[in-house]
Amino acid sequence: MTRNTTDQAIVGAGPVGIVAALAMAKAGEEVALFEGDPSLTKRFAGEWLHPEGLRLLRRHGIHLHAGLPWIAPSRGFAVLPEDGSEPILLDYPGGRLGLAFDRAGLIDLMREHCADTPGINWIPSAKVTKVERGRLEVASSTPGAAGTWTAGRIVGADGRGSIVRRAHGEGRSPHLISYMVGAVVHGIELPFEEYGHVVLGGPGPVLLYRIGDDAVRVCLDVPAALFRSSRDKTAALRGHLERLEPALREPLRRELEAGRFEVRANQFRPRVFYGDAALPLVGDAVGFHHPLTAMGMTLGFADADCLARSDEFRTFERERIASTFVPELLAFALYEAFSRDDRGSASVRRAIYAMWREYEKERDRSMRLLCGEETNVLRFGQSFMRGAQLALAQSLLHGGSIFGIYRETIGTIGTIGKILRLLTWPSSSRLLPLRETWSSSPPKRAANAA
Ligand SMILES: Cc1cc2nc3c(=O)[nH]c(=O)nc-3n(C[C@H](O)[C@H](O)[C@H](O)COP(=O)(O)OP(=O)(O)OC[C@H]3O[C@@H](n4cnc5c(N)ncnc54)[C@H](O)[C@@H]3O)c2cc1C
Repeated sequence: MTRNTTDQAIVGAGPVGIVAALAMAKAGEEVALFEGDPSLTKRFAGEWLHPEGLRLLRRHGIHLHAGLPWIAPSRGFAVLPEDGSEPILLDYPGGRLGLAFDRAGLIDLMREHCADTPGINWIPSAKVTKVERGRLEVASSTPGAAGTWTAGRIVGADGRGSIVRRAHGEGRSPHLISYMVGAVVHGIELPFEEYGHVVLGGPGPVLLYRIGDDAVRVCLDVPAALFRSSRDKTAALRGHLERLEPALREPLRRELEAGRFEVRANQFRPRVFYGDAALPLVGDAVGFHHPLTAMGMTLGFADADCLARSDEFRTFERERIASTFVPELLAFALYEAFSRDDRGSASVRRAIYAMWREYEKERDRSMRLLCGEETNVLRFGQSFMRGAQLALAQSLLHGGSIFGIYRETIGTIGTIGKILRLLTWPSSSRLLPLRETWSSSPPKRAANAA
């Protein structure tokens, strides 16, 4: 059996593992990057990057404008309220641009870049089957790769079902939020071609963005109970279809009826456990939330970048816990407000629309929070409080009779309370004392094993 050795073993060459490999090679480390299933790039997942994610890619030598088969620079988001009122355009701050792209093309390009980077041993078709401190077992068809490897540090970049996370005994199931149905429609124009679209109302939000000259990605968020209870999955999507313009509805209906769609579970695992100095975690191996805010890859790139820069594990862990708190809160709060059709959520939604329409500063702040540029919890709190006040004002306006106002107000307070409870739950788990047993020493170079 082969015995190999490396400074850093990275398990998983998804977008985050690749950035981790590039960042560590840049810091002078010798890296082995293992990928168990190179074809997974084609599954329905992240296809949108915020400006901060693009900045981190550029920092590690990936320039997307050169070499991708298809990309669309994006100015931000167009929110289409359920009441048919004027759409709201939320621009990225300072005229910066995000990007929608072909996911498989992006990951292939990043892997090619890794293969050409000195210091990275890129090993495709190499599944890590066992992880212990300093040692891993690999099953691979790549010559010389199968067998036991020793490594100074083993980084878990292996996504939601991470084997490295499980090696810590941290394999608890995540919480199911809803399902995301993804389809691609052709031959349609979007109302705001330079923006991603968030269509509200119906049983769940619908996201739309262009991913090719003649291809628009449609993501339908479907409540878990509705999706599970429906034998006919396309029938479960009727409410979403009714909410859409006929020009989009009909081609989408054809795709769904022909079974040309993919389904992913939207799950939540709080980003509170980053592993330890010998077996650190990055990207979805740490945690994940609803993809409505398209933050997963940007957060994962920042994990990878921070790990490579940090001399001590504790520094990495503290920095990441501090800066992922707000994006997680925002994903919670927006999904809670945008996905429900009760009176309270409708008031909160109207308040958010009013806030965005009236205050340019709030539009700007929301986008800074959304794209990870603003991570100060107090700033989030200021926006949240202004939104809560407006929501209560909206319930007074829309209640009609005294009884109506009472019901609207109770519903609104209930929704605000629910969001607040959701906000405090992940924060309280962050306050758990950090385990003293976690080593804070920098990774050691692997001994030259035979
Ligand atoms: C429907 C949906 C839409 C989304 N949209 C967006 C979006 O628009 N923008 C955004 O930023 N994020 C989005 N996300 C989240 C984003 O896709 C993830 O955050 C991102 O893919 C995480 O990257 P990762 O590299 O950590 O994990 P993954 O992408 O899961 O990659 C992990 C890699 O590890 C490999 N691997 C696993 N186990 C092993 C093993 N034992 N041995 C070797 N290799 C292994 C896998 O084959 C895989 O290639 C979305 C998610 C979903 C579900």
